Amino acid sequence: MRLVLLGPPGVGKGTQGRRLAGELGWALISTGEMLREAVAKGTPLGRAAGRLMAAGELVEDDIMVGLVRDRSAEPDAARGFVLDGFPRTVPQADALEAMLAERAQRIDLAAYLGAPEVELVRRLSGRLECPVCKRAYHRTDARPRDGRHCDDHPGVELRQRADDAEETVRKRLDVYRVQTAPLVDYYRRDGRLREVSGLGAMDEVYRSLKQALECPDPDPDPDPTSSGAPSGASSGASSGVSSDASRRARPGR
Ligand SMILES: [Zn+2]
Repeated sequence: MRLVLLGPPGVGKGTQGRRLAGELGWALISTGEMLREAVAKGTPLGRAAGRLMAAGELVEDDIMVGLVRDRSAEPDAARGFVLDGFPRTVPQADALEAMLAERAQRIDLAAYLGAPEVELVRRLSGRLECPVCKRAYHRTDARPRDGRHCDDHPGVELRQRADDAEETVRKRLDVYRVQTAPLVDYYRRDGRLREVSGLGAMDEVYRSLKQALECPDPDPDPDPTSSGAPSGASSGASSGVSSDASRRARPGR
């Protein structure tokens, strides 16, 4: 399975993607993490990307596609991969399709995790971290014992990351709405979209996600009787699981 994870900032894609990839033996391709790593290692790509990011510019699409091309060709991605953080725009999604088509591959499904904006703002703007150990807290969801200081560093006051300030969070959501939300329709049009509610406990969301993807069990029975095109009918809202009944063909090794 080659899967794209879609959803606004704060919906928990990263966490769900990591768990899914780990459990099913797929590679997790997190482009944000890869860029940070490349910059830290000082690879040629990292140096180029670092210059752009330092200048406040976006890393160009062809650099991003090159990154995904190389990473998705590694042995651990042979059974499948989960893309987190890419594509972010429709042109990037087109470039991704073209790159995979060179290998006679494609994105099998896109999973959209949704949640109301008010909840996303609450989650993101409530995040706090210890400046010493980087442990993550939340004003309401994961409070430190005394409400202000790191549990492990009693004198150290917790801080909010600059990009979690409420105003910045709203800007991030605006950028998402303009640039990335159109991808939901992009994958819905040809029946590849699965919608999952990102509300509720992490385990609950994870179960919905697996159900929506009809994830293979650890020992899947071969079922070549995949028939018909997806109906294209999808649940409009971000609640619950869209039940597109057609089972997709299992990707080859
Ligand atoms: Zn600490």
